[in-house]
Amino acid sequence: MADPVNPSHATFDLFVQAKTCQEVKKHFIELCRQLHIDPKDFRSFYTKIKERLNYWKAKALWTKLDKRASQEAYQQGKACLKNKCLVLGAGPCGLRTAIELSLLGAQVVVLEKRGEFTRNNVLHLWPFTIYDLRELGAKKFYGKFCSGSLDHISIRQLQLILLKVCLLLGVEVHTEVEFQGLIEPTGETGWMAKLQPQSHPATAFQFDVFISAGGGRFVPHGFKHKEMRGKLAIGITANFINGNTAAEAQVAEISGVARIYNQKFFQELLNQTDIDLENIVYYKDDTHYFVMTAKKKSLLKKGVIKQDYSNAEQLLAPANVDHVALCIYAHDAAYFSTGGKLSDLQFAQNHAGQSDVAMFDFTCMHRSENASHVRERRGKKLLIALVGDCLVEPFWPLGTGIARGFFAAFDTAWIVKSWGMGVPHLKVLAERESIYQLLSQTTPENTSKNYSQYSIDPKTRYQRVNLSSIQAHQVQHLYDGDKTRPSSTTQDSQCVMRRDPASGFEELLKWCVKHTNGHKNVNVKDFTQSWRSGLALCALIHHFRPKLM
Ligand code: FAD
Repeated sequence: MADPVNPSHATFDLFVQAKTCQEVKKHFIELCRQLHIDPKDFRSFYTKIKERLNYWKAKALWTKLDKRASQEAYQQGKACLKNKCLVLGAGPCGLRTAIELSLLGAQVVVLEKRGEFTRNNVLHLWPFTIYDLRELGAKKFYGKFCSGSLDHISIRQLQLILLKVCLLLGVEVHTEVEFQGLIEPTGETGWMAKLQPQSHPATAFQFDVFISAGGGRFVPHGFKHKEMRGKLAIGITANFINGNTAAEAQVAEISGVARIYNQKFFQELLNQTDIDLENIVYYKDDTHYFVMTAKKKSLLKKGVIKQDYSNAEQLLAPANVDHVALCIYAHDAAYFSTGGKLSDLQFAQNHAGQSDVAMFDFTCMHRSENASHVRERRGKKLLIALVGDCLVEPFWPLGTGIARGFFAAFDTAWIVKSWGMGVPHLKVLAERESIYQLLSQTTPENTSKNYSQYSIDPKTRYQRVNLSSIQAHQVQHLYDGDKTRPSSTTQDSQCVMRRDPASGFEELLKWCVKHTNGHKNVNVKDFTQSWRSGLALCALIHHFRPKLM
């Protein structure tokens, strides 16, 4: 029981049960105030809250988090002590990555442009994700989490669980702030982010790792996306109010029927309703959630799409969709596929207060050509990595988004660890790209079943992984060095030395002058006198590695 004289116990209960993003943040701040812990004290936040919140309900959670934190890969939270990571996006994959980075000992800041988590849509979970989330205490935050044979969760519930874990581990999560781009280092400052609002405190954060988890179609500067164009595929999602009655509980879920496996069902649906589908999924969660792929002909016939176009973008443009007809179409498909047992199907509301039904184009899916880049300016390197939908867009009816998204989160944390341990940047990039090659082929069948051994180490998850299938020399294009000065890569500095001795000598002198320029009492003119005091050497070191000085 909560101690009646200890208000922090009651606040902890409110934090655990909070059902919106803003509520979570509010109770968290109050908890920090009551326990006298600075939420910005990321280094010892978790240790302090554990010590000061002496409450049995919290202890059960600490046991879980301690177990995760004790994994060898994190090196007792010391692997990334020097790293500062900015994570763009508080979707499930951004938050999951943030947890891993914080367990590695890094300082982690997450930015999210929305103020609330509002997506009712339901995500399919592979067995390893269920195990993973349970081990992070999902059941403590959301009692219904994957009870019995359930293998799904709504996007917003998943975000809430991960947000709570993030905060307890000392991750800084800022909402209602939009990332607008990277700001290159100046002489004094490192890599920073341009944000909206411009006065946001996170604009002062300087980082050496940038994780982009901004969702599908978000392509950070410098990354190329490949288009995978298939035959026209029109997805419809719909959420209906779940009254949680006994009758509703009885209705069987449909974990995915495709036309080729149950032709009779789809034929009857067509005969009785004129609705023609390729597949349908029904999950029961906070809402009754349906996702289906519909054939264009039937959408035209039922008046959902007003006019036929060969171009999918024009075809599904909001002006060409009759919203009322779409609601009827989704309603009738849901009603038929549940055998009429959901007799009172009423639409749940989306974030805009409208019926939560939507139509999406899956004809053209995107995936990033590469998973990581390194950019260097003024001697400051930045590791940039993509995770989640931003890396590979999932086809929702297949339910691969979270599973592959979490794999990418772990893979990314693995290379951030290498980065933190000082592995040369081309090797880090080569390793990330080697692992990335496997991502789109992963299925529950071809990945390890030993979930208790899963860690950020790819070998614990992929059955066959060769971390050096791509070599450092093959990823040089993923390193974007400073164009305004000779690069600090070994190769480039060798280029300066390889020319004929006279011009090489002159060029090297020019280079030294340029990079020591502006430092007090330093005036490089030659390779002898100018270096006697040692100040020129210090200036050179300071220019490229200011932290060392
Ligand atoms: P997301 O969950 O998309 O999160 C990205 C986050 O980044 C968002 O919260 C966004 O607000 C934030 N962001 C983007 N740009 C910026 C910026 N510039 N600054 C700050 N923050 C930014 N999958 C299914 O399997 N079934 C479904 O029915 C389904 N429905 C979906 C409905 C919608 C509207 C969307 C967007 C996605 C849906 N998905 C669905 C995909 C599923 O949500 C993702 O696979 C899953 O959430 C993992 O995605 P993520 O964390 O990589 O990205």
